Order: sequence, then structure tokens, then C-alpha cells
Amino acid sequence: MNRKTIRDVSVSGKRVLVRADLNVPLRDNEITDDTRIRAALPTILHLFQHDAAVILCSHLGRPKGVDPQFRMDPVAARLAELLERPVSKANALVNSEVRSMAAQLQTGDLLVLENTRFEAGETKNDPGLARQLADLADIYVNDAFGAAHRAHATTAGVAQVMREQGKPAVAGLLMERELEFLGRALQSPDRPFATILGGAKISDKIEVVDNLLNRVDVLLIGGGMANTFLKAQGYFVGESLVEEDKLDVARDLLDRGGAKVMLPVDVLVADIFDADADVKTVSINEVPQGWRIMDIGAQTAIHYRDALMNARMVVWNGPMGVFEFAKFASGTQAIASLLADLTENGATTIIGGGDSAAAVQQLGLADKMSHISTGGGASLEFLAGKTLPGVAALDER
Ligand code: ADP
Ligand code: MG
Repeated sequence: MNRKTIRDVSVSGKRVLVRADLNVPLRDNEITDDTRIRAALPTILHLFQHDAAVILCSHLGRPKGVDPQFRMDPVAARLAELLERPVSKANALVNSEVRSMAAQLQTGDLLVLENTRFEAGETKNDPGLARQLADLADIYVNDAFGAAHRAHATTAGVAQVMREQGKPAVAGLLMERELEFLGRALQSPDRPFATILGGAKISDKIEVVDNLLNRVDVLLIGGGMANTFLKAQGYFVGESLVEEDKLDVARDLLDRGGAKVMLPVDVLVADIFDADADVKTVSINEVPQGWRIMDIGAQTAIHYRDALMNARMVVWNGPMGVFEFAKFASGTQAIASLLADLTENGATTIIGGGDSAAAVQQLGLADKMSHISTGGGASLEFLAGKTLPGVAALDER
């Protein structure tokens, strides 16, 4: 990675402002999944082990201004539990009280700031807000890979101001790990290098297909996005989810990809979009009028397994079907367990995308993958070859 990390700077006795992605799901003010908080711990622990004081900030949900439902208190409380140490919590992101709390921090103290999105200047990347944040600390650490594709005050603006002030702006350990895995896939993949793309819509992932097409040895397509490719090839897809305005793009990608690109040869179709729908498996040229494609078929899963068998690196983004309904989860299950086997045999497997990560988690296979990205949107933009503003703002090596 060509950006400095917390390992490259001396943090001893310093106040370190860490932007993490602590955007956890909440129900009735309770955290329902603390994966993101746990993912932030290695950086926080590194800073404590090296005698820093930590000021932590993150967005939480999508509040429009101050909204008591989205206060950071449950996050601060969970951090205190996980770290087994007291955590103080500020009631704002920046104000005079926050400034004095920050100024009083001692080595080993942790101060959690209020939800960054309570400030209108956050998403506007307001320079005034960035300056106020910069004044709180001696060092800036961006560990929020999941927010790195946004140029916000806490992800990009503050880094720029602190660098102008001669203060270090570096990546945290989670950010480093994400960039290492995804960066390797783009720059120096182990070969054969395979990518599996699925999920709802081709429009979300056209740029990813475009950027990966020349880099991969094989590209397997499933999920809703396969329908548009199938229709572009002239197949009848009934009531399937299709993006009519992307048929030309799909045709062009298929032309360019040639034999590298594989599409389903059979599919599970349903008479209605429902968990209790009638289901049948049909060959791809037999989708009945009025029915819709909901998953890849067993024959396709076998083809895809054969294509992946020798892969040394696999990137997977997007479920193969409507896995939320048990009847249409088998394609996604087949890919997930195959990837688990490949990992066991020494291949590097990288999962990107919120729904794909959730599917792998549900199947209990999360710890069988080499890397599960914590950033859905950010990982897609990275794989599309775009520069992430939150990364670009950090010190180069
Ligand atoms: P990720 O979050 O992993 O990037 P997406 O958000 O792109 O994945 O897509 C996930 C969604 O795609 C799931 O909700 C799933 O139900 C839907 N999906 C998958 N296959 C189909 C299909 N054949 N028809 C309609 N929706 C599908
Ligand atoms: Mg998704």
C-alpha cells in the first residue's frame, strides 16, 4: 500500500483522532450486530499499546441533523464493554466542551464524539468543520474503509487540514487490511484469478465489470444482473428483473469478455416474487411466460464450480439469487461453500458487498473466507478503479 499507516508514525503521548466506521444496525436503541465495532478494535488497541489518547468519531445511520435516535451512546457503551475500560462520550462532534474534553485526555483515554452526521458540514465537507476537528488532535487516522468513498469532513477534509498543519494523516489497521486485499486483486492477483458477480442490478456494477474484465481469467455472473446479460443475448426472461436501458452495455461487455464470461445455463424460476412461490428449474431457453428468474440452477452451480476449481484468487460480490427466500438461496450457498473449500486449499477469497457478506455470515462461513470487506459501496468503487477520497487524503509513503 502506498499510504502511511499507524505503524509508520510515533503516537506515544499524542492525541489521535480516529475516524472509524461504527455505523452499526440499531433496533430500539440496541445494537443488533457489533461487527463494525469489533473491526475497529485492532487500531484502537494498537494506539493504546503505543501510549496514545484516542478520540473516536463515526457516522451512525442517516440522521438529518441532531436526532436522539442516532446518538453514539450505545456505541460508546459497547466499546467500553469490549475494551474493558471506561469510555467518555461527548454530546457533540465539535464545540467548546468537546475541545476541553479533548485537551484533558491522558494516555490510554478514549473519547467518543457524537454522530458526525449531526453536523450539516460533515457531508458537505465543510472546511470550517474540518478545521475544528483538526484542532482536537495531533494525528489523524482513517480506519473507516466503509466511508472512504465519501469526501466528507471527517473522512477527507480533516485529513487535508491536518496535513497542512504538518500533522500526520495515516491509515488504520482495518483500512490497511482492506486496501491490501482489494489492492492485490486489482494489481497483482494470484492466478488463475476469478471474479463472481451477482446481486440485484447490473447498473450498480457495470464499472466493476468494465474494470475487471481485462484483469480476470474468468468472470462468473449470477443474480439479478445475469438477467440483463441473458436478455442481451436474446433469451426470453419473462418477468425477471431486467434493466432494459443496459442491454447495449451488457452486449458490449459480453463481446469484450468473450469466453472469459460465464452466464447461467439453467435457473430457478418462480411464478411470483414470494418466499412461498411455486418453483421450478428450467434450462435458460425455457423460462415460461409470466415466470421470473430467482436463482442460478444446479447445472450452473456445477459449471461455476468447475470454473473456480483451480482459482488461486477469487473476488465475490453479489448473491447468486434472492437468498432472503430459502427456496432461492441454494446458488448463493453453493458458491459460499465452494469458496470456503478454496480458502482451505490455500486460495485467497475476498467477499465484497453488504448482502454477500450477510449471506456468508448467515451460512456460518464468515471465518472461512480470507477477507470480508466491511465496505459495500467503498469496495465496489475501489474495484471499479476509482480513487477513494478518504484514502487519497492520507500521507503517501
Ligand atoms: P451486495 O450488497 O452483496 O453488493 P446487491 O445489493 O447488489 O449485493 O444485491 C443483493 C440483492 O440482490 C439481494 O437482495 C437479492 O435478493 C437480490 N437478487 C439476487 N438475485 C436476484 C434475482 N434473480 N432477481 C431479483 N433480485 C435478485
Ligand atoms: Mg446490497
